[in-house]
Amino acid sequence: MDVELALIAERLKIQLPYLRADKNDKRMAHDFLERFVAQGKKCFQKRTDKDYVAYSDAIEAFDKADRLLVSWANRASHSFDVVRPEAVKLIETCEKALDFFECSSCGKRVWFADAEGSESVQCQCGQIRWRYGRA
Ligand SMILES: [Zn+2]
Repeated sequence: MDVELALIAERLKIQLPYLRADKNDKRMAHDFLERFVAQGKKCFQKRTDKDYVAYSDAIEAFDKADRLLVSWANRASHSFDVVRPEAVKLIETCEKALDFFECSSCGKRVWFADAEGSESVQCQCGQIRWRYGRA
C-alpha cells in the first residue's frame, strides 16, 4: 500500500514535505493521502460536457480513507485491539479511493504514459486528468 502510494505521488509530481531519501521509506500512507486530498482539490479534474471540474467524488474518497487510517493508526499504536474486520474495512476503503485514479471510461490510469504533457497527466480518453500542482 505505501509503495503504491509512493509511486502514484511520483507520477503526479506531488511535492512531499520530506525530501531526504532515508525518510522516504518510512513515510506513512497518511502523508500521501493527506496530499492527495489537499492537492487533488486543485489538481484532480473530471471532464463534464463543457469543461473540467474538480473531481469531488475522488477527493471525498481520499479524505474518507485518510480519516479512517488516522483513527485506526492512533488506536493501533496504543493497543492490540484492532480487530480483523476493521483492518479489512480500512484496506477496502483505501483501495476504493485509489480506484478513482483509474478512468471508468477507458480503463487507463490518470497517469497514462502516452498522454503525459508538461502541465498535466491524463487517462487515454481524457475523461480524468491531474494538473501538476504548483507548490
Ligand atoms: Zn479515460
